[in-house]
Amino acid sequence: MTKPATNSFIRSERAQAMECSSTLVVLQKAENLRRAGHDVIDFGPGEPDFPTPDNIKQAAFRAIEQNFTRYTPAAGTLELKQAIINYFLKETGTRYEPAEVIVSAGGKQSIFNGIITLINPGDEVLIPSPYWVTFPEIVTCAGGKSIIIATEPNSFHLTAEMLEANITPRSKLLILNSPSNPSGRVIAPDEFERIVRVAVEHGLWIISDECYYQFTYAPHKPYSAASLPHELRSRILVSGSFSKTYAMTGWRIGYALAPREWIEEMVKIQSHSTSNPSSIGQKAAVEAASGAQESVAGMLDEYARRRNYLVPALNAIPGIECVEPEGAFYAFPSIKGVLVKSGIKTSSDLSEHLLEKAHVVVTAGSAFGAEGYLRLSYATSLDTLKRGIERITNCLEQLAGQ
Ligand code: PLP
Repeated sequence: MTKPATNSFIRSERAQAMECSSTLVVLQKAENLRRAGHDVIDFGPGEPDFPTPDNIKQAAFRAIEQNFTRYTPAAGTLELKQAIINYFLKETGTRYEPAEVIVSAGGKQSIFNGIITLINPGDEVLIPSPYWVTFPEIVTCAGGKSIIIATEPNSFHLTAEMLEANITPRSKLLILNSPSNPSGRVIAPDEFERIVRVAVEHGLWIISDECYYQFTYAPHKPYSAASLPHELRSRILVSGSFSKTYAMTGWRIGYALAPREWIEEMVKIQSHSTSNPSSIGQKAAVEAASGAQESVAGMLDEYARRRNYLVPALNAIPGIECVEPEGAFYAFPSIKGVLVKSGIKTSSDLSEHLLEKAHVVVTAGSAFGAEGYLRLSYATSLDTLKRGIERITNCLEQLAGQ
């Protein structure tokens, strides 16, 4: 018998190319401080602080009582697909077919399946910055190359011209995320359509990640690529999630709507990886999509109240400039003024400084491809926001006085 040459684990090239989510790294550091007995204020998490609404929890209890606890079809139950189809019909006027829907273990899995079934080594994927950290990592996993599109500084608006300037013969996919994590920017519907038209004219496919779809602040309204005309929609994968809208991050239910050929390939991958998402979670999601929606409006009102406190409070800190988020639940202020005066070089150094000295967790903009910014999640109580802002203000005052 031949012995292995070494006992040390050698990662595959694919694993070597990928990096651990830097937002998770921050959470781990915060956890370590907490374990050491410190009161840590956490502006890190990308998840609602609300409990899952009661009607949704009750649906899950019923599913367990009725022994709905077995495998379902890998692409999700017809009942849930139909609930998602009805939801989109009501919201956008577009009727999808069940064969154009896949239910996954979170929107993340849908996006992963969507990219891995389309991208070949060397294909270019256009991603506007700042971007959700996972997009380029999945592209890397697929062997593709992320081409980051610079948007307007501070406001982070993306235009069709910015996209067009970055298209090459190798471009295959554009990933849009509106409302955006981390910037909170919403792409206006007319600009969205212009961007998609340019992409389609150049033969690109498009993923529209709409996991914050319901969380837009007036005058902005929820907008889905599903409402685009058929000739455009037939190149688009719309990715959605129950995680944020219904405070269901732990249930792991997301979905994609896309041309049936694309969905077929995604189902193939999913059937050989995770199979179906949780049967109980799917029953809960049916209630979420088709039951009472008041809880969503309640959460949005609370996010708006927090945003109305947080943005002026950040702008009152010398060296910080924060544009008002139009959607989602993140503030993404520029900290360039602080960096210039303090001698701290990067957003990552500043976030470490705030964690060590003020015990406040914020995420460095560099994690999202935007150096000179920080991301603060306001999916946390108003009281916590106020205490956190006080600590940041004091910490930066001390820094300026040094
Ligand atoms: N897309 C964006 C922009 C996100 O911020 C997240 C979660 O943080 C997701 C997708 C995926 O969410 P989930 O997999 O919980 O549905």
